[in-house]
Amino acid sequence: MNTFKNLLSLPESHLCCGCGICAYLYPEDIKMQDVVSRGRRPAFIRKVRSGDVYPEAFTVCPGIHLSHSAETLCQQGLSDSLVKSWGPIFELWEGYAADQEIRFKGSSGGVMSALALYCLEKGNIAGVLHVAADEQKPHLNKTIFSETKESILSATGSRYSPASPCEHLKQIDNANAPCVFMGKPCDVAAVKNLTDIQTGWSKKIALSIACFCAGTPSTEGTLEMLAKMGVEDTATLLSLRYRGCGWPGKTRAEQKKGQNSENKFSELDYHESWGEILQKHRQWRCYICPDHTGEFADISVGDPWYRNVTESDSGRSLILIRTEKGRAVLQRAIADGYLIAEKRNEEVLSASQFNLEKARARLWGQLVALKICRVPYPNYSGFSLYHCWRHNLTFTEKVRSILGTVKRVFVKKLREKCKTSQ
Ligand SMILES: Cc1cc2nc3c(=O)[nH]c(=O)nc-3n(C[C@H](O)[C@H](O)[C@H](O)COP(=O)(O)OP(=O)(O)OC[C@H]3O[C@@H](n4cnc5c(N)ncnc54)[C@H](O)[C@@H]3O)c2cc1C
Ligand code: SF4
Ligand code: SF4
Repeated sequence: MNTFKNLLSLPESHLCCGCGICAYLYPEDIKMQDVVSRGRRPAFIRKVRSGDVYPEAFTVCPGIHLSHSAETLCQQGLSDSLVKSWGPIFELWEGYAADQEIRFKGSSGGVMSALALYCLEKGNIAGVLHVAADEQKPHLNKTIFSETKESILSATGSRYSPASPCEHLKQIDNANAPCVFMGKPCDVAAVKNLTDIQTGWSKKIALSIACFCAGTPSTEGTLEMLAKMGVEDTATLLSLRYRGCGWPGKTRAEQKKGQNSENKFSELDYHESWGEILQKHRQWRCYICPDHTGEFADISVGDPWYRNVTESDSGRSLILIRTEKGRAVLQRAIADGYLIAEKRNEEVLSASQFNLEKARARLWGQLVALKICRVPYPNYSGFSLYHCWRHNLTFTEKVRSILGTVKRVFVKKLREKCKTSQ
């Protein structure tokens, strides 16, 4: 049942994805906190008075509404064959950072970091708002505003744990020049929603870059993964990388030992950490996400999994150009020697991201199931959900998309209020 009238009941609905934009808009009333079993969630820190409904946050919240306008989807030059399953795409490239250190440290080919660096050094921007490990508590994330190459490099690599980069949009608001914003698709969608209602914001974002995203696991997922790595006490943790430093790279934890002994390193490979542990801990909103590939960004970046990656391969990224601005920046970054990239055929996207295509296709059936079960669901428009369900799933998958969701409503207790504090 979709009964939302304002933001207050939203965090209890299981639909929050933790972007943090509500906390940016109402900093005196809302603060983001990590709910270990769920993700980052808004806490209403000031006693709510009648009339407090946080209208702007409700309007821009990507947890409950995402929409592509007809104008966006009908732009000349968009790929007709990709638009229904993947949103607006002008061009598809594959490439990597020309700087070897960025390429090595990056999650796939270091493209997000290389683009950010290009904008910083050649694009007259004030800085880059994005996510990095919290040095004090490396199993958690923090949002940083990078003004140097070192700072961008310190944040390379995907972190499969909760982050709320929009909470700190004030840094962009206060900057004396436009900035780059990087995040997950829902983070970027929140910023896009903001630029739609506060027109001044479009001038503040020089470029938005989204990573592809199958979902954000809760901190509980990281704790289970660390336990498997032999880290029982997070206070002993000196650093934690989820991937990168190779492609896809290992999950690597560094632990402090006794005063005279050496630090201890533990590793898991990507399939053990993400495949066996983390993905089980994804927040509910990720299961019903229509945008796993950054459809509201200027440029979105993911893994070209159509390749059979071996341990010794250097990283590569798939690059989707989603706006004219994105196209111009990519061309300049290649011409100025920051990126090495080649255009690819459209088929490469589906071959690389088969699971994400299937996830989008299941969504129409999932939403039907949520409506039948009278469970809150988001409003999505412009995603061709029925078309994708009808054409991209087998008969059995269609039935499962509905019945599997009905089962999840009970297994995940979606009819009950979601825990919003520890
Ligand atoms: C939660 C999550 C799920 C993902 N799922 C998929 C997937 O299913 N398929 C796929 O192809 N790719 C997925 N990715 C993206 C992929 O891992 C790479 O990030 C992408 O290929 C870009 O690599 P890169 O080397 O160009 O990025 P890099 O140059 O390494 O830059 C990565 C950037 O991502 C930012 N970042 C890292 N973690 C987070 C976070 N939790 N929230 C917001 N920003 C963050 C950092 O600030 C950094 O600037 C996922 C990433 C995340 C964070
Ligand atoms: S999705 Fe973002 S805006 Fe919506 S409630 Fe959650 S943190 Fe706030
Ligand atoms: S799957 Fe969707 S909702 Fe979940 S973190 Fe990724 S972009 Fe956000």
